[in-house]
Amino acid sequence: MGNMVDLRSDTVTKPTAAMRDAMCQAEVGDDVYGEDPTVNRLERVAAELLGKEASVFVPSGTMANQIALLTHTQRGDEVFIHRDNHIYFYEGGGAAMWSQATFTELAGDEGLMTPEELSDRIRPRNIHHPRPRLLSLENTHNRAGGAALSRSRLMPLVEVAREHGLAVHLDGARIANAAVALHVSIASLTADMDSVSMCFSKGLGAPVGSVLAGPKDYIDQARVYRKWLGGGMRQAGILAAAGLYAIEHHIDRLEEDHVRAARLAEQLRRAGYQVDQPSVPTNMVMVNLDRDATEVIQHLAAQGVLVSAMGPRRLRLVTHLDVTDADIDRTLLEFSQLKG
Ligand SMILES: *Cc1c(COP(=O)(O)O)cnc(C)c1O
Repeated sequence: MGNMVDLRSDTVTKPTAAMRDAMCQAEVGDDVYGEDPTVNRLERVAAELLGKEASVFVPSGTMANQIALLTHTQRGDEVFIHRDNHIYFYEGGGAAMWSQATFTELAGDEGLMTPEELSDRIRPRNIHHPRPRLLSLENTHNRAGGAALSRSRLMPLVEVAREHGLAVHLDGARIANAAVALHVSIASLTADMDSVSMCFSKGLGAPVGSVLAGPKDYIDQARVYRKWLGGGMRQAGILAAAGLYAIEHHIDRLEEDHVRAARLAEQLRRAGYQVDQPSVPTNMVMVNLDRDATEVIQHLAAQGVLVSAMGPRRLRLVTHLDVTDADIDRTLLEFSQLKG
């Protein structure tokens, strides 16, 4: 992908030289014995960042979310979730295998259902209904164009969940993008949640790694499920070092990705494209086309610009650590030529 501009996802970032140095120098031990000092440090630092008692390091965001469901629910328990959430849309139906929870999916703008709708869907306790157990939210919201959801928008949903005795999980794969875009601390966006997952391998630029954070006893149980799923790693400090480096050096710079995405969105609009940005955008641009997305993707790829499809006539462009201003210019040029 040497000379390509790769806007398919922020997962394509490669570790920087400085991050690789930090990984090289990491002090390690056997983490299944709890003896990897770098993993232990990352778990403490991440818990603090997310405002929780404890966290557990896992290979992927998907594993963090699936373990979260396993830990919150028993077989058949009901999880309320927006139908565009990653857990529902992009995790291969994994919940049917692991937690075996029942999903009740809701719709609504920017990845949020209304509090009224949530409340209406929570049925009274009765032998006919599954046990309502969990509300699962996502911030930033990927399929909603990377929408950064403020605490005041999430709070009414959390309140409905609490009234009905539901726990609340936040898929915070890109919670750092949300905090940077909203100019608030990460912990202020996670304070109302019982558990939070967060990825280091997206815009934060680590090669691998996510965490699940929550109360200490919850995380103790989550560690058991991580082992079940084969996610207990040995000298994982090499990977945790990348996460620590990302927290220290790559959070504030997300602002640059957001500025580039905003410029891309604005100039695509001026070139006549329909761009539906969410109310608080982050590092994603969604383009609605009047023709087949795969055709456009192939054409752009031939010119060295990679983007992904978010629907039959919808594209997603994601800015990240490895995208420069010149890459944005080149992308805009290709898009305007496509139009002309
Ligand atoms: C990428 C992503 C995940 C899962 O991440 P993987 O590490 O790829 O498993 C979870 N939630 C959201 C919103 C994501 O964008």
